[in-house]
Amino acid sequence: MTQTAAEADIPTAVIATGGTIAMLADPASGVRRPTLSGATLAAAIRGLEVPLAHFQPYAIGSEDATFAHWLQLAREIAAVADAHAGVVVMHGTDTMEEAAYFMAECLPDAPISFCGAMRPPGTLGYDGGRNLLDAITVARSPLAPRLGTVVVMNHEVLPAWDVIKSDSVALSSFSTRHGTRIATVHDRQLRPLSLPLRFNWLGELPAVLPRADAVAYVRLTGSPGPRRFADAIAGAEGVVVEALGAGSVPAAVRAQLLGAAAQVPVVLSGRALSGPLQDEESYPHAWDDLLGGGVILEKRLDGPRARIRLSLCLALGREYRPLEADLI
Ligand code: ASP
Repeated sequence: MTQTAAEADIPTAVIATGGTIAMLADPASGVRRPTLSGATLAAAIRGLEVPLAHFQPYAIGSEDATFAHWLQLAREIAAVADAHAGVVVMHGTDTMEEAAYFMAECLPDAPISFCGAMRPPGTLGYDGGRNLLDAITVARSPLAPRLGTVVVMNHEVLPAWDVIKSDSVALSSFSTRHGTRIATVHDRQLRPLSLPLRFNWLGELPAVLPRADAVAYVRLTGSPGPRRFADAIAGAEGVVVEALGAGSVPAAVRAQLLGAAAQVPVVLSGRALSGPLQDEESYPHAWDDLLGGGVILEKRLDGPRARIRLSLCLALGREYRPLEADLI
């Protein structure tokens, strides 16, 4: 019988990148900065007796994370994943879903568990220790290689393609757009709840850095300003538009969108919190002009994730294909 990681005593890689989970108050100014190391945090978790190897490529608030940080993180994970029993990434929560999605796209076969904290160290209800413990439990579980990249927060295991920070302060902030909870984790017990999906991930690390300015990202509203919309997408190498409802694009900006689609990839995703685009049954032919003009319908991803996928495609010189899934 093959040994599990736990039996073989292989360490789990814990990569700290900053975020509230690590934010201690500076004694002089009182300002919180991400100075708590993964090793110090792990040492404070009672009963955590698994071998860990610690890495810290950078320490930032995740609002300052860039494609350069995420590419550096992806390269670090690629370098350590094979020799460790799973990879845990401690990350700020503000852009955790985007960082996790970036890793899932580039490294779909790596078992990566993201965690963070909604409350900083030393405050009542600090959730960093238990989230780290839960993420380590997931990373070391025999199921981890089948899950790819997940976010482990507040005892829930949520998939990178769907997870969202849905509340600015609640400990239960992390949920999903489509209700896709993979498992719960309590007291070092992982309880699977749903079957993993297999996606058409890009599965490649770009050799060149994706450019943050390459893709224009616009969220549509009622009464959009046609000139502002045109300004927002002018000169972009690709465009992601979050449409209304099931993919409605107001007449006021339709011509501009089609004009852009004649030049560069234009991806339409949805602004609604969940549900698919293109309800052909109810609105027959409503998307014919857009599809005929080359607009790509991204039915599964929200705008920020579609922006990451398109930015990676541009950096890799690949055509954008919508994210699709099969049951494993
Ligand atoms: N601003 C912090 C960050 O994203 C918030 C957090 O980690 O909860 O780094």
